[in-house]
Amino acid sequence: MSDDARQRAVYNKRLPCSVKLCPKKRTFTAQFCCTHQLRRRLHGHHLGRHIQKKEYTPYLKTVRAFLTKHQHHAAVKAALEIMASLLAPPKEEPQGKPLRLNPSWQLWRELWRLKQEGVTPQEALEVVLAVWLYSYHFPHQLRDDKRLDYALAASVFRLRELASRKQWVQNNLRPSGFVQTTSRRPGALPNALLGGRIRTALVPFWINFIKALEAEHAARAKKAADLKAAF
Ligand SMILES: [Zn+2]
Repeated sequence: MSDDARQRAVYNKRLPCSVKLCPKKRTFTAQFCCTHQLRRRLHGHHLGRHIQKKEYTPYLKTVRAFLTKHQHHAAVKAALEIMASLLAPPKEEPQGKPLRLNPSWQLWRELWRLKQEGVTPQEALEVVLAVWLYSYHFPHQLRDDKRLDYALAASVFRLRELASRKQWVQNNLRPSGFVQTTSRRPGALPNALLGGRIRTALVPFWINFIKALEAEHAARAKKAADLKAAF
C-alpha cells in the first residue's frame, strides 16, 4: 500500500460503513466495513451472499427435463458447444501479473481442476440454467446483476469438491498443534471472469429457454383450465 493510501485509510477508517444501519467503521480505503467489503469481493456486491446448492437444486429437475426433451434442437447443441469452450482451460499457463492478482491464471487453475474431475458441458449448462432460474423466480435472493455472474461461476466451480490446502495450526485451545484443512474458495477474480463470460455467451440461449419454458407452462395451464370449462 502506498503512503498516500495509508494516509487516506487513517481518515477513512473513522467513517461509518456506507451500508445503511451497519454499525461498523470502514476498512482501509473502502467505503464499506470489513464484512460488507468481503461480501463485495466474494459475491460481487456488498449485499451479496453465497447461494447454497440446496437453493437452486430444485430447478435442476426442470432444466434436465427440458434439455432432454430438446436435446436434438440446434439451440441446445449450440449452448453445449459454447459451454464446452468456456470450460476448456488454455493449454498454456497464463503469465503476467502476480498470481494473486491474475484473473486468467486463477480461472485457468479452476478450469484444470474441473477438467481433471471430468466435469461435462452438459452438467455445467444444467447448473447454470438452474441458478439463472432461481434468480428469475427469487430476484430478491439473487439479483440479476454482478451477483448473478458470480453465482453462475460459483455453481460451476462447485460441481466438484473445491481444492483444499492443509496447514499446521497452533492456538490457545490446541497448544500441541493440529493439521487444519481449508477449502480454496475461488475469489472475485475467477468468479467475475467466468461469470461474465457465461452471461455474455449464453444470454440469447437463456432468453430462448425461459420463453419456451413459460410457453410450455402456459400450454399446461390452458389444458387444465379447458378441463374445467363449462359445457
Ligand atoms: Zn458494513
